[in-house]
Amino acid sequence: MTSVNSIKPAPAIRTHNIEQIIHAPIGETARLCGWVQHRRDLGQLIFITLRDRWGEMQCVIDPAHSEAAHALAEGLRNEYVVAFSGATRPRPEKEVRAYPGGDREFLVDGVELLTAAEPLPFNVEEDVKASEELRLKYRYIDLRRRAMVRAMTIRHKCVSAIRSYLNSHGFLEIETPMLARATPEGARDYVVPSRVHPGEFYALPQSPQLYKQVLMCSGLDRYYQIARCLRDEDLRGNRQPEHTQLDLEMSCATRDELFSIAEGAMHAVWRECLGEELPHPFPRLPYREAMALYGSDKPDLRFGSRIVELSGQAQCIDAAWLKSDLELGKCVHGIFIPGASLSRKQYDEWTAQAKELGAGGLMTIELSGEEPKGSVAKFLTDSLAFAQAAESAEGNAHGTWFMVVGDTPSNYKVLGQLRLALGREFKLIDEGKWAFLWVVDFPLYEASDEPPYVTPSHHPFTMPVAEDQHKLESEDPAELLSIRSDNYDLVLNGVEMSSGSLRINKPDLQLKVLRRIGLSDEQIEDRFGWFLGAYRYGAPPHRGFGQGIDRLVMSLLSLDNIREVIAFPKTASAQCPLTGAPAPIDDAQWSELGIKSR
Ligand code: ASP
Repeated sequence: MTSVNSIKPAPAIRTHNIEQIIHAPIGETARLCGWVQHRRDLGQLIFITLRDRWGEMQCVIDPAHSEAAHALAEGLRNEYVVAFSGATRPRPEKEVRAYPGGDREFLVDGVELLTAAEPLPFNVEEDVKASEELRLKYRYIDLRRRAMVRAMTIRHKCVSAIRSYLNSHGFLEIETPMLARATPEGARDYVVPSRVHPGEFYALPQSPQLYKQVLMCSGLDRYYQIARCLRDEDLRGNRQPEHTQLDLEMSCATRDELFSIAEGAMHAVWRECLGEELPHPFPRLPYREAMALYGSDKPDLRFGSRIVELSGQAQCIDAAWLKSDLELGKCVHGIFIPGASLSRKQYDEWTAQAKELGAGGLMTIELSGEEPKGSVAKFLTDSLAFAQAAESAEGNAHGTWFMVVGDTPSNYKVLGQLRLALGREFKLIDEGKWAFLWVVDFPLYEASDEPPYVTPSHHPFTMPVAEDQHKLESEDPAELLSIRSDNYDLVLNGVEMSSGSLRINKPDLQLKVLRRIGLSDEQIEDRFGWFLGAYRYGAPPHRGFGQGIDRLVMSLLSLDNIREVIAFPKTASAQCPLTGAPAPIDDAQWSELGIKSR
């Protein structure tokens, strides 16, 4: 019998990757493997840029050094996979470049073609010319591009920073099933037919919510998972049918304790991925204040221009239509945009935008020059009140008030949207800033158009605050809408990054909350009976959150397209151009599953 020790190790396919050869002493001999990024024939010399995951290296093939290598190199084309043996040497002084490895080149003395490549559907280059559809169809080529490698690398670092932070804080990473009972998060379920139980279906989890709560009932206390969540909803913009989230739950923790864990994880990510320190602690803002100041439950705090009530100051605008609106109890709210000055045409455009958002019109007062300008300047009996309001809101009275009249919630809504658009237009947003914020104390329910006219603002497992729990008995939707909950979102630069809450840990209360969203006792028993059961045998108080990883990585890379941070994303119509999913199944599969297509 051959002993293990007598088996010779195979010779290395590669001795160094490009990062290693860039950092090795010049003169190091090596065997590099990679793709031909680019080939230049300069008469006698051939220059090949060799690319691997770690970088690029200029390789020189000189017939005077190796005729055989030169002969082989003549046949190489873009994206062939090759192994080059040789050694680094300094680049001639005038060719030294500032990028990593720009001080050296690799003089090749052996060439091995590992595999050839057919002509490519598009070039592997940073300034990619191919359409997104083509890039997704040939994703394996697209992923060779530096930007994609960087996105995958940052994504990996982000997740591993989260993992090591949570591991060192006593959390257990626990996997929960993909083939599950429905876990509602407000979307439709993806369902999977069961072959062995014809006519029955699994639901793919919209999140691990119910399982993680049950884990707390089991006493596992601190859980997390980098979880796939599947939600069948109409895809808009940056939505994907499946996304990844950091899903976390902890028992017996105050809100502050949970925030400190979530912030710690973000600190670790920023340090690991960007080498930056984030502020601590993140600011907090109650939902109501967020709506009143920014017209949004996910305010972008990279700039000011908060919403201000100006109904008092509006008494100095002597216009009959405004007076009658104010008499009817309507309010005037405005935002002051420092430095803004509008032409007539721009005013018309902003007015059109305000109307599209639901406002009756837009009033402006520009305070830049001697005399106030703007759409209502000619009605002003006194502009001082507006200058003072600008000074106290923004510390600056040079700029323009943008104002609307209407009921308070719709004014907030219109100004919240205008604020973002104006902030972008007048370059008020500090792009270098990371503005994290906790928005807290959301209402338990939000209004819905269909009976029972309320729907959970987070999900139906969120704890209503103790003082408001009696309101659950009410039949009045307004009363239900006023119930507060221990519910929070983490926002970064105006984007919701995570949401979470304290959970209901008493089965009777859970039953009430589920009934209030229109579920009958039979439906509750059928869908959630198993889950409520877990709370009958001793359940600690617990809370948690889910944090979208895709969005997090987009922020780290300052990207605005979610597909750029996912290796194999779906298109906006939920298809995968690479594999052709979704695809029909054949007759045998239909009958095996015991289902028929209509
Ligand atoms: N399950 C929630 C979500 O996916 C997060 C949470 O409440 O923990 O948004």
